[in-house]
Amino acid sequence: MVELKTDTSIDAMYTAGQVVGQALTAVRKAADVGVSLLELDEVAREVLRGAGATSPFLGYRPSFAPVPFPAVICTSVNDAIVHGIPTRYRLRDGDLVSIDCGAELDGWVGDSAISFIVGKPRPADLRLIETAERALAAGIEAAVVGNRIGDIAHAIGTICRAAGYGIPQGFGGHGIGRRMHEDPSIPNEGRPGRGLPLRHGMAIAIEPMLLAGGEDGYHAAGDGWTLKTNDGSRAAHAEHTVAITETGPRILTER
Ligand code: MG
Ligand code: MG
Repeated sequence: MVELKTDTSIDAMYTAGQVVGQALTAVRKAADVGVSLLELDEVAREVLRGAGATSPFLGYRPSFAPVPFPAVICTSVNDAIVHGIPTRYRLRDGDLVSIDCGAELDGWVGDSAISFIVGKPRPADLRLIETAERALAAGIEAAVVGNRIGDIAHAIGTICRAAGYGIPQGFGGHGIGRRMHEDPSIPNEGRPGRGLPLRHGMAIAIEPMLLAGGEDGYHAAGDGWTLKTNDGSRAAHAEHTVAITETGPRILTER
């Protein structure tokens, strides 16, 4: 069931979303060659603590997961697509890093992700990240009253496919509010004009995931959480929490 949020609730979600934005900005600033993924998790924990927010990631255990998620950010490096668990791994020159972060404040949740390069970037990686951001922007632009979920999915998928990238099937965006994952699902590929009509008060996380190798295949790594590309190619992820309003999409996790 899709729960519509009041304008007051959307304002509260914006406040939670700002904490996510601050955490991602701090993590990105701290990410450098030689810095460990666990140290980046600590940076995000500090921002959440300082804001009086809790983490919807920490302890999260969906049905597929062998253990509760042990961190407040997902750190997905190079061929990891999403859901990477922070480890002692120290970032190397040219690593492509995706950071996903959530925050819960006053009972409302925000969810957002960024991808970036540590050290000297390769042109192919910059193109991948730029395309992920462009797909996210197109998805947000399509998140307007009068459109349907398929219009968002189509906008995202068209950009990813035109650039020659793969899309992991079965993973994508979601409704969000008091819980991190609510109805509806927001696929990263679909047919325009199909699916649920978008209404004022819907809050959704839009999150394209792009696979540089062009294949859609992925598998879970040995930790049971991290999704990796089957062909070993790099992946990028971009996400914002967005409210659909009569005056247009409102990004709740601005940075
Ligand atoms: Mg996320
Ligand atoms: Mg999400």
